[in-house]
Amino acid sequence: WPQPLKQALPVLQQIEAAGFEAYFVGGCVRDTLLEQPIHDVDLATSAYPEEIKQIFQHTIDTGIEHGTVTVVWQQQNYEITTFRTESGYQDFRRPDQVTFVRSLQDDLKRRDFTINALAVRSTGEIIDLFSGIQDLQHHEIQAVGQANERFHEDALRMMRAVRFQSQLDFTIAPATLAGIQTNAALLKKIAVERIHTEFIKLMQGRARRRALQSMWQSQLYRFCPQLQLYDFRKLIEQTTDQPLVQEASIWSLLGYLWQLDRLEMKQLLKAWKTSNEVLKVAQTATQLLLHDPLNDWNLYQARASAVAVATEVLQVVGQNKVATALQQRWTHLPLHQPADLQINGQIIMQACQQPAGPQIGSLLTLVQQKIIQRQLANDQQAIVHFLKIYLSRN
Ligand code: ATP
Ligand code: MG
Repeated sequence: WPQPLKQALPVLQQIEAAGFEAYFVGGCVRDTLLEQPIHDVDLATSAYPEEIKQIFQHTIDTGIEHGTVTVVWQQQNYEITTFRTESGYQDFRRPDQVTFVRSLQDDLKRRDFTINALAVRSTGEIIDLFSGIQDLQHHEIQAVGQANERFHEDALRMMRAVRFQSQLDFTIAPATLAGIQTNAALLKKIAVERIHTEFIKLMQGRARRRALQSMWQSQLYRFCPQLQLYDFRKLIEQTTDQPLVQEASIWSLLGYLWQLDRLEMKQLLKAWKTSNEVLKVAQTATQLLLHDPLNDWNLYQARASAVAVATEVLQVVGQNKVATALQQRWTHLPLHQPADLQINGQIIMQACQQPAGPQIGSLLTLVQQKIIQRQLANDQQAIVHFLKIYLSRN
């Protein structure tokens, strides 16, 4: 047992001791078999939520109506979900109805991919009803049952397929990819926030190009916000599989390749409902990347966050030398942020006998420009001296 599962084993055993079935399911089983780090430990059980709440002292009602109770066990949270089937799916996203069942088989049948439909008992026995282990060995993502039906039921699964492809570096089984192709347009029914989560994970994954290729092949990209407006091929052709960590770097990569101005970036990111924080940094980093030639003042104004994002983008498009040069240029700036100035508005007002007002801000900007242009040292005495001369002349 890997450590996170070993730690959770007593939880399974307690449910069993109360006379119910309990299993580890989903991603934690998949990642254990792949010998990859486990994100979260999910449990499935034949016990109903009320029954789980009687077994454990500390529980949280996470989603009782969907059958999920969180059990707190030795400072860890575990989501325990009652076996269930889903029906309805009138709107191509959430099932209209979930029905609790007592059979593991029915629960595994509703899961998205065979590699996610594995369960493990406390004895270590693996329950593999849909050849999930074989698909893991073949590095293949395959829908449980008829791909076409499964994507029609829940269109988000199409984004999950390409996301897992990127994270695991797997192929998508032909019938499953065909199912995506057929149902791609249904993605429009899914809330942008949920598509967003999967797309970010895809872009952060290690086989991003392969996954983007599948989005192209199946035309899935056309039903993601705004992506059909730009040259998606370029994204595949000019991107490497180098790590991409920050969300802002992902958007800035698109902005750089598609040469988006500030307004276009805003439209793109608003359509994807990204945070304003990410929007600002991504916009600035993109302008930095597209600004040619770049001067030190532009670089200074971009600040450390946007410079880091721009560097990540350059690395991911394979421009490592340019990335290193940008980093060096940033490091060698005589000043990196206003907080590092050896002077402030108060000191200027006192030393230069200036009244408070907007001109103080202008003087501070002037000082920063002069320092960045290396015409003035970041030293209190030198700055005051410079300002006195400047004020006597203007
Ligand atoms: P991660 O490592 O990203 O957490 P995961 O496989 O655990 O991967 P989750 O989103 O945490 O993914 O979902 C847990 C499990 O629930 C999945 O492994 C899968 O069995 C099932 N599942 C999740 N979303 C869906 C869906 N839209 N349709 C069918 N089954 C799903
Ligand atoms: Mg999970």
